[in-house]
Amino acid sequence: MKRIAIIGGGISGLAAAHTLEEHRRTGAPVEYVLFESSQRFGGVIVTERVENCLVEAGPDSFLTEKPWAADLCRKLGLADQLIGSNDAQRKTYILVNNKLVAIPDGLMFMVPTKMMPTLLSPLFSFRTKLKMAREWFHTSNQANADETVALFVERHYGTEMVERLADPLLSGIYGGEASQLSMRAVLPRFLEMEAQYGSLSRAMMSARAKTVPNSARPLFTSLKDGMQVIVDSVVARLSPSALHLNRPVQSIHPQEGGWLVSAGDESYHFDAVIMATPAHAAAKLLQDANPDLSAELRAIPYSSSVTVSLAYDQNVRAALPRGFGFLVLRTEGKRLLAVTLVHNKFSHRAPADRALIRCFLGGSRDQRILQSSDEEMVRIVREELKQILALDAEPLFTRVYKWNTAMAQYTVGHLERLERIQHLSQGLPALALAGNGYRGIGVPDCVRSGVEAATALTGNYSRNPQ
Ligand SMILES: Cc1cc2nc3c(=O)[nH]c(=O)nc-3n(C[C@H](O)[C@H](O)[C@H](O)COP(=O)(O)OP(=O)(O)OC[C@H]3O[C@@H](n4cnc5c(N)ncnc54)[C@H](O)[C@@H]3O)c2cc1C
Repeated sequence: MKRIAIIGGGISGLAAAHTLEEHRRTGAPVEYVLFESSQRFGGVIVTERVENCLVEAGPDSFLTEKPWAADLCRKLGLADQLIGSNDAQRKTYILVNNKLVAIPDGLMFMVPTKMMPTLLSPLFSFRTKLKMAREWFHTSNQANADETVALFVERHYGTEMVERLADPLLSGIYGGEASQLSMRAVLPRFLEMEAQYGSLSRAMMSARAKTVPNSARPLFTSLKDGMQVIVDSVVARLSPSALHLNRPVQSIHPQEGGWLVSAGDESYHFDAVIMATPAHAAAKLLQDANPDLSAELRAIPYSSSVTVSLAYDQNVRAALPRGFGFLVLRTEGKRLLAVTLVHNKFSHRAPADRALIRCFLGGSRDQRILQSSDEEMVRIVREELKQILALDAEPLFTRVYKWNTAMAQYTVGHLERLERIQHLSQGLPALALAGNGYRGIGVPDCVRSGVEAATALTGNYSRNPQ
């Protein structure tokens, strides 16, 4: 019987546990124990029902084009829970000079696929529009080494595109900065396009011409009753005796071809370990076993973020803009990074006579915010919503959620670091890394990382960072 410890009960660890449970049920000689330090499973996935509104504290959905989270839902019998974003209402704004300017239709990240809406948009200056037109003739002058997203976007479309689109988008998704994040790790598809076509616009047009239109597919997928349903359904499927809450693992040491895992007052022997914590937590646990590996893991930066949800009545709902929400330019001098109009983005989130707004604060731009009290954060958010949307009404309720060092930042050189991590873990007993620190921070990538870690350890003891 192979005994595997899973450390960390967020979605990555749960996906690993679910995979091992499936193997166990089909007769594979495998046993697992899931150690979670907090009092609940799910990590940053938390859904609360408040006065008939469904409030997501962490992720509210996942990208439909990445299949692994939806696949897991289907395996869990949750196919009828899957809902798509209301893409008919899909409009996102950028706050520029305290005005909301719509991102032009047809922009794929920063690549225009429809020229007219972009050329007519007030979001970009004439100079940038000219650069967009010239980009069509861009020849491949790829950088040999990894570079920042900012440098890459600047090479193609100039600095205004970085400031007005790439940076706010990355700040909204990663809580990160275009001037820090790695092109190879974060947007590899665009590098492939550049390598093949030189011009991103030409590459995108060619890809569109080849693909069968699939307009029925929504951009985001979520669950009718919230993201927490995935967590609860996985937990319900696992063997109760294998689940340990309030059990932080304090250390792991190589022992007799496996690992001695110490949690609380007890130590247990395992043949293999799946480390599904954030990389900085993995670094602490591996400090004694391999200080160099630990140092590489610790060097993966994480940012902290805060979500503030506010509910309002139907008068506010009627007055709010249409669309999914807005992103805030760094130069606006606001603490808000992004705002989602939840009642527009998904059905089943708020009754028809309620507005539900979710605001993002923090990110690598503003780590200080984590020191503020909940009251102060609500005050900041309300003050800025008043300035931007003239929203002065009293909210029906508010909720604040703080996520300390939860979002990995794939900075320049991230992929080379993963190679070093892989190399350094080769001298150790069977160990697989899963989680948002390595090859994708979104929920689908985390699910994939957990599934692959479990599969690797029950198969051939592969030690790659997944
Ligand atoms: C505010 C926010 C919004 C987001 N929005 C989206 C979104 O809309 N769509 C999307 O796809 N992604 C989104 N993400 C990203 C995504 O949700 C996360 O990357 C993903 O859920 C991380 O899962 P994880 O299991 O790797 O890590 P976590 O959820 O961080 O779980 C790690 C677990 O390990 C436990 N742990 C740590 N140390 C130990 C130890 N020593 N012993 C035992 N247990 C330990 C922790 O308590 C925690 O439960 C968002 C993230 C945040 C924070």
